[in-house]
Amino acid sequence: VKKKGAGYEKQATAIDQAAVLGAGIMGGGIAYQSASKGTPILMKDIKEEAIALGLKESRKLFAKQVERGKLSVEQMAERLANIRPTLSYGDFAHVDLVVEAVVENPKVKGAVLAEVEEQVDDDTVLTSNTSTISITRLAENLKRPENFCGMHFFNPVHRMPLVEVIRGEKTGDAAVAATVAYARKMGKTPIVVNDCPGFLVNRVLFPYFGGFSQLMAQGADFRRVDKVMERFGWPMGPAYLLDVVGMDTAVHAGEVMAEGFPERMGSMGSDSGKSVIQLMVDHDRLGQKTDKGFYAYE
Ligand code: NAD
Repeated sequence: VKKKGAGYEKQATAIDQAAVLGAGIMGGGIAYQSASKGTPILMKDIKEEAIALGLKESRKLFAKQVERGKLSVEQMAERLANIRPTLSYGDFAHVDLVVEAVVENPKVKGAVLAEVEEQVDDDTVLTSNTSTISITRLAENLKRPENFCGMHFFNPVHRMPLVEVIRGEKTGDAAVAATVAYARKMGKTPIVVNDCPGFLVNRVLFPYFGGFSQLMAQGADFRRVDKVMERFGWPMGPAYLLDVVGMDTAVHAGEVMAEGFPERMGSMGSDSGKSVIQLMVDHDRLGQKTDKGFYAYE
């Protein structure tokens, strides 16, 4: 039942049909998670290869569940059929909620959001999985900014329980309610936060990376720092986590954070002024995505 204008503590819009724009690392993961928890999802990309790769990843994840005896082959087929790959907006008219997960570029995202808004119902909720771009700024391209908010997943989507739901200045309660409900339906834990650089998680995480970077500049051994943080009880240390996040992504997000909160970020640099994370980028050690970062991956 669609209810416009309801507070998010009241009954929220039911999300029966979703769509994701982008079939990359995040878009593919979002499609898998939605399909896995029973919400059909259109997965749109501009590249056929990206769609093929996104589907392949989902197939792999479902197959693992079959191997472990958690799913039957029939259930796997049923869930996979919940993902409908597409290169066009053909079936977008009846989508309840869209997650935009294209490249992290404000111009591209702005254009894509304005484009999809033309294709959907007036009350369809639009969301963006951006990590660093202001939701209020992205809403400037929209005719119905009240229907738009952030829906920030973490990588890998199927393993990370948290989803940040971000309220822009013009976001309405109904959009937040629907997004919270969809996140829950996906088996995630949503938290509603206001729009600011880094939202909540990255505001905590980046000063921590800064501390790690300073330790490295003072000659610490990253393996030992990782071991210490694991003993402290964290599932992985900062060097390994940076390998997962990707150095280029971390540098970019770090810049956004430093611009937003210069007094809190401090210096991440060595005497040469460059952080270890930037030095890793300079040496093409981006992390797991390039098979080498602090650690080597084959
Ligand atoms: P990616 O490069 O793996 O995937 C982006 C996909 O978008 C590509 O397949 C590309 O073909 C597609 N695309 C580009 N223009 C498009 C368009 N006009 N319409 C449809 N598809 C289009 O990127 P990613 O890592 O999945 O990141 C996507 C978004 O998620 C970014 O905003 C990023 O900041 C955010 N994010 C990433 C991570 C992460 O760890 N990778 C975590 C949280 C949020």
